[in-house]
Amino acid sequence: MSKENLRFSLADFHYTDNPNILEPPEDFLEWANDPDVSMGLRLFEQPLTAAPAAITCIKSGIDGKERKYINLTSYNYLGLSTHPEVLQAAREALENYGLGASGAPCLSGTFDIHQEFAKKLADFKQKEACVLFSSGLAGNLGTVQGLLRRGDYFVIDEKAHKSLFDGGTLSGSKILTFEHNNPESLDKMLARTKGSRALVGVEGVYSMDGDLVKLPQIVEVCEQYNAPIIIDEAHSTLMFGKNGRGVAEHFGLEDKIGISFGTFSKSFGGVGGFVCSNERIINYMKFYASPFFFSCAPSPVIIAGLMKSLDVATRDSSLRDKLWENTRYFKEKLLELKLDIGETESQVIPIIIGSSGELLVELASEIQLRGLFLQPVDYPAVPAHSRRFRISVSAQHSREDIDEALNIIEDVIVKRLKNT
Ligand code: PMP
Repeated sequence: MSKENLRFSLADFHYTDNPNILEPPEDFLEWANDPDVSMGLRLFEQPLTAAPAAITCIKSGIDGKERKYINLTSYNYLGLSTHPEVLQAAREALENYGLGASGAPCLSGTFDIHQEFAKKLADFKQKEACVLFSSGLAGNLGTVQGLLRRGDYFVIDEKAHKSLFDGGTLSGSKILTFEHNNPESLDKMLARTKGSRALVGVEGVYSMDGDLVKLPQIVEVCEQYNAPIIIDEAHSTLMFGKNGRGVAEHFGLEDKIGISFGTFSKSFGGVGGFVCSNERIINYMKFYASPFFFSCAPSPVIIAGLMKSLDVATRDSSLRDKLWENTRYFKEKLLELKLDIGETESQVIPIIIGSSGELLVELASEIQLRGLFLQPVDYPAVPAHSRRFRISVSAQHSREDIDEALNIIEDVIVKRLKNT
């Protein structure tokens, strides 16, 4: 095998002409078994053997050894996944309700704590009502699929999450993408939708670059067309805005948001998704969003833990403050190291390496062996010219964790980039 195979990526094997549906395309197998390629693939699905905290343990996919890592990859931005009060609330719910909800929400899966939590979330987001989903992906997908119909338009930022695009596809609506964060491009697309219903999809913090939606400009354009906005605040809820309500609060534009979406898998430290809007549309949508109506309700154990996460994160600003202090420090130091961190304005910090997939994988493996859990992000998840590492800063990181991580980044990435 030659380095030739490194020119290909997962984007090249979606199509298959293998007559046997139970077998992947042959060229995919050949590619995935190439030693150079499989070194990169071994970085996927490495099992953590401890909580996704600032320091965690992983059984390395590279050498099979279990070791301690400074964790820069988990989305546990506020450290809530292991907060003692959160764990206690989950333990109590486990004793009271058992492990799972054992039913779809409309039949037997809605518990008192689901309703209590949904009400708290709606109040928190300053909307009339809220619906809970068992994953963030299900929430985005279900909402768009549940609301849009054939003949409608879904006008979406090209960098928005796949779950929004997939919701659009499932709904049968026409999907138009606009250039990332570009109000003129949005305007052009909305002009094409005249006479039809159009929903506009954006993210609060864009998950691969860490930049914020240009919400004031986007809102201005949407208002001209009377097009409501769905904002995905997966990476911003509990962190942005004076009260942690998200990027819409940060810009003072919450009343301009038609549908506010968030996940529980990131700052909340759990799993699930939620969608807030006016009561009439939430009640209607529940009947048509398949991932809500036809799927088991989220586990009450998780719901109890999440409800405590919301309490802990909003009773004062200490976790948020710590997160921003860590983020500022981390960014400052990365810039001193002259690394390209793109346009980030958040706790998501890319380190952009460039176009070489080979270099990305080599650096990723070396970093891992040094005890830093910092996963690479390769094409097609990001453009082929800007392959990268993506740091998730957490309030849980100590100054020593960050300094140690920076040492490894300097030793491995900075030195290598200087020599290429
Ligand atoms: N939206 C965005 C912006 C995301 O980054 C993700 C997942 N990383 C999701 C939605 C899906 O959320 P979940 O992982 O909670 O299903």
